[in-house]
Amino acid sequence: MNSIISNPVLTLVIPCYNEEEVLTETISRLTAILEELAERQLISKHSKMLFVDDGSRDKTWNIIASYNQTNPYVSGLKLAKNAGHQNALLSGLMEAKETSDCVISVDADLQDDLNAIQEFVIKFKEGYDIVYGVRKSRATDTFFKRSTAQGFYRVMSKMGVNIVYNHADYRLMSKRVLQELSNFKEVNLFLRGLVPLIGYRSTEVYYDRHERFAGESKYPLKKMLAFAFDGITSFSVTPIRLVSAVGFAMFGISLLIAVYTIISKLLGTTVWGWSSLMLSIWFIGGLQLVALGLIGEYIGKIYKEVKQRPKYIVETILDSQSTLDAKKTTSKNSERKALAIQ
Ligand code: UDP
Ligand code: MG
Repeated sequence: MNSIISNPVLTLVIPCYNEEEVLTETISRLTAILEELAERQLISKHSKMLFVDDGSRDKTWNIIASYNQTNPYVSGLKLAKNAGHQNALLSGLMEAKETSDCVISVDADLQDDLNAIQEFVIKFKEGYDIVYGVRKSRATDTFFKRSTAQGFYRVMSKMGVNIVYNHADYRLMSKRVLQELSNFKEVNLFLRGLVPLIGYRSTEVYYDRHERFAGESKYPLKKMLAFAFDGITSFSVTPIRLVSAVGFAMFGISLLIAVYTIISKLLGTTVWGWSSLMLSIWFIGGLQLVALGLIGEYIGKIYKEVKQRPKYIVETILDSQSTLDAKKTTSKNSERKALAIQ
């Protein structure tokens, strides 16, 4: 459990890519929410919004910069070029982690129901480190988006990737979760797969997802597919295993074919050369796939190694009284030493 803070400093991290059409509205709605929560003493009055401009080509940054002058809650971070949603989000989270007790990531387009922010904070105050925003239904999605998204979650769970169903990137994370997240050094970032790996106490809040307030989705089909593929290949070696599995299957079939070929040969129904050709095609095909799968297996291991993910994350440490005493005396000693040096 996180140590419960009565007035946590909350930062809302909002990645923005060409969002000039919605930004003014987003800022005014989020400001109203922060003001209300601060008034009701649910959060500290030092809470803020951090807008990350992900290399926008429109007036997004100008809007952020001008609000920064007039609205005390608005801060901004401008990336040198478009880094993609996940990277933009991470840059904001890492920037915010030093100055916040908890951080909520939310999209700029007002699709996620902002009323959930209050519930997130309440859950945080109850001691949860991670609060996942989960969509109640996908009624506002187009049929296409709905079916591809659901297919995506299904494929992911088949591949053994642990993600929260119908949860995108609307979530609260505590300071210590962000600190652990910073230890994940991987370049192919798929945050909704990483956060459950951290494993501190988590819960879910259900919310309705609306249509985009204005502007277009910045996730066209091509980006969506790339994102899904990235998610699968960053977390799962199942595709490689499939190669091995197919290889073994081919190998099995080649044995059956061998029996069939030999029987045909014995029955004398074959032309000369057919049996040997038939046998080699299946045998070599199977053998090659098994070999590829095996190589893939090692590459999968190398892939995991190069990610250098932390192997475990500590929840709490309970020092024995004697260790505590020892620590006290060493710190006293060092204080004394420091005094002596002065
Ligand atoms: N976004 C970003 N960089 C990108 C693409 C998107 O920062 O390269 C931001 C975008 O401004 C929005 C959020 O990521 O705040 C989610 O994007 P969008 O709403 O277009 O995705 P959808 O909701 O359609 O999946
Ligand atoms: Mg959106």
